[in-house]
Amino acid sequence: MAKPQIAIVGAGFAGLAAARQLCRLSHQEADIHLFDRNASTTMLPALPDVAGGRLEPARIRADLRKLLKPRIQLHLGTVQSVDPAGKKLSTAEGVFTYDFLVLTCGAVADRRGLKEHQAAAYTLGSLADAERISQDFGAFVQSRSSPQAVVVGGGYTGLELASNLKMRSVRLGRPARVTVLEMKDRILAGLPERIRSYLEAQALRQGLEICTGVKVDSFDGRNVRLSDGSCHEEVFLCWSTGTRRGLPELQGEKQELPDGRIVVDEYLRIPQHPQIFVAGDAAAIHHRDVPLRKAVNFAYYSGQTAGRNILLGLRGRPLQAFRPVDLGWVIPFGSTAAGQVLGIDYLTGRLPLAMHYAMCGYRNFTLGNKLYFAGIAVRSLFGRL
Ligand SMILES: Cc1cc2nc3c(=O)[nH]c(=O)nc-3n(C[C@H](O)[C@H](O)[C@H](O)COP(=O)(O)OP(=O)(O)OC[C@H]3O[C@@H](n4cnc5c(N)ncnc54)[C@H](O)[C@@H]3O)c2cc1C
Repeated sequence: MAKPQIAIVGAGFAGLAAARQLCRLSHQEADIHLFDRNASTTMLPALPDVAGGRLEPARIRADLRKLLKPRIQLHLGTVQSVDPAGKKLSTAEGVFTYDFLVLTCGAVADRRGLKEHQAAAYTLGSLADAERISQDFGAFVQSRSSPQAVVVGGGYTGLELASNLKMRSVRLGRPARVTVLEMKDRILAGLPERIRSYLEAQALRQGLEICTGVKVDSFDGRNVRLSDGSCHEEVFLCWSTGTRRGLPELQGEKQELPDGRIVVDEYLRIPQHPQIFVAGDAAAIHHRDVPLRKAVNFAYYSGQTAGRNILLGLRGRPLQAFRPVDLGWVIPFGSTAAGQVLGIDYLTGRLPLAMHYAMCGYRNFTLGNKLYFAGIAVRSLFGRL
């Protein structure tokens, strides 16, 4: 009898964790295929540091071929669509037939709110984005007497990016005017108020300008016109209004959140297509009635559970429900940070910053980069960043 074919789409935290679990299957039990559009994987939480020129891209990137066990077959290319009825997925190279599928394709920057000149705006969803910002912002600042950057979106990614741009311009000796635009009445609106106001105060202290209650009316590739009638001219525009699930297109019936996350059951299966599991940022995993936030640890453990459940299913054993453990979150901001960690609901300063970099090390992919981030964590604890 032919061996079952297991396909994993996306080699990020969730996909790699699923692949590692599935490696516990013997060669006789199944073939494992991992698809990714890139030949490397990325520690996304450190993207703002790369965008701000504080970190070399190599510190957050790892070559997939070196990471994977030989029995995992790597297919490079974008998976365009999945047909659950025919159990097929399509890439530019052709069609692949699977028996089980794990969708771990993460999320992409959501540019839908920007109607014109999308190519002239910068997003921060991938390492290529971060490298582009780093390169172009350096050149932009050097070529202007009064450089100005506008970051649209006052969430944590927008704030971190704005802070990194500001610091970069100061290091280059050309302090830029950096404005954060937010359409709600305050930045970081979803956060607990104490943490929100701490980070807002840090942003103002760093010299960021914060404009709330405004929307972008138009962008002509250079100038941004706002809903209050004002205009920012000759700007470096960054668009940071959240993320959504990108390709592959998933045909057939399913339930999705507005950002495209696919609703799964407690075993991480799509209820309408039980041979498809979804994990990480692509999945809407409800925990205490709300979807889990997009985070590295949830991606890692949900990927692991999806892989384990395929393994259990193939062996005819009962599946295990995914029970997330929330250790908390941290928002790094320059030489400080704020967050809720291990039940402490207000933690600010160097300790959470060190925790953030420690996490970037712990979940990094190569020993060299793990140690490098451990060094950053120690330095940030002692204020030596
Ligand atoms: C700027 C930024 C800062 C963040 N900061 C933090 C933080 O401080 N702490 C935290 O916990 N989380 C943070 N996150 C969120 C965290 O990075 C994600 O939750 C996590 O990466 C999700 O893992 P994943 O495996 O689901 O997806 P990803 O890590 O995004 O991996 C998805 C993989 O799928 C591949 N892929 C996608 N589509 C296709 C396709 N169609 N075909 C083939 N391959 C495909 C991609 O190339 C990628 O390798 C941050 C994210 C960003 C963008």
